Formats: sequence, structure tokens, C-alpha cells
Amino acid sequence: MSTRYLLPCRCGKRIPVEPRQAGESIQCSCGVLLEVPSLRAIRALEMEEVGPELVATQESAPTWGVLQGMALLGAAIALAALASAGWLIATLPTPPFGPTDPQQIREETEALVPFQVLRVWHSIKNTRLVAGRTPSELAYRDRLFRHRLGLGVVGAIGVLGTVLCVATTFSARSRNWKARPPSSH
Ligand SMILES: [Zn+2]
Repeated sequence: MSTRYLLPCRCGKRIPVEPRQAGESIQCSCGVLLEVPSLRAIRALEMEEVGPELVATQESAPTWGVLQGMALLGAAIALAALASAGWLIATLPTPPFGPTDPQQIREETEALVPFQVLRVWHSIKNTRLVAGRTPSELAYRDRLFRHRLGLGVVGAIGVLGTVLCVATTFSARSRNWKARPPSSH
């Protein structure tokens, strides 16, 4: 919305005009036909008073709407990731009975970062049988790898969602604050 200026009529009324109406004619409610002056002359007129609420609704509301939507989306992503992580933790694969201590396998897997998980998982898939490891142990390692990888992905998505939510909320607040007109003088 562009700023409106008040064009005085000889009846005492002031008609709000927009700069784009320069050169046009408008009729006052008293019946007098007024000529809207040039752009420069319009800008010299008194500005129409717009309350802060009106400014907030007309100017910052659409921006806030988009940012608020993104903030909500970010929060939804973060919550979904949190729920997924909770589900993954609750469904931690149960260890089989094998020669290697399951606790040791878990510790080994948990020490890996997602990239290493992918690499080790891949090598295990290619060499199904490793000396001293039973198929059930390998299957357990395989499930643990999937689990760990899932947690890594879900964690990354959760962080992205949180960042999106926080960044857009912060941005919307600062924009809203900036959009407020200076106090009337
Ligand atoms: Zn008039």
C-alpha cells in the first residue's frame, strides 16, 4: 500500500489521494471537482494519519504470515524429527546371542559418525562373513547400522527444522518491529 496524502478542499474536508493519482480529478463529497496536483506537490501535502494497528495489518501482516508459516513448518519438522528419534530409540534392535558381546557391538556402532556408518555398513554387506562373526551377529550389526543412520538423518532434519523455526521467528519479529512507524510528532 502506498502512502496517501490529504488534499484540502475549500469546504474544509481533506480528501486522501495517492501519488499515482497526480494530474487526475477527484470529486469531493461537497460536489466540488478537485484537481490532484503534480507528484511533487502531492508529496508536499500532509500525510494521511495511519494508526500503528492499520500499518501492522496492511504492511507487515503478509510478511509475518509467510514467515510465521515457515516458522510453523520448521517447528513441525523439528517435532516430527523428535518423534522419529523417539521411535528409533524405542525400537533399538535386540541383540542376538553370539560370540561378541552385544554391548561391545553397540558401543562400536555408536562411536561411528553417519558417514562411517555408511562405509562400514557397505563393507559388511559386501563381505557377509567376517571371521568370528555369526550371521545373526552380522544381522544385528546391520540393523544397528540402519538404526544409527536413521538417527543421524532424523537428527539432521530436526536441527534444520529448529533452525528454520528460530530464524524465521526472529526475522519476523525484527521485521514487525521495524515496520512500526516512528511515533507521531
Ligand atoms: Zn469539498
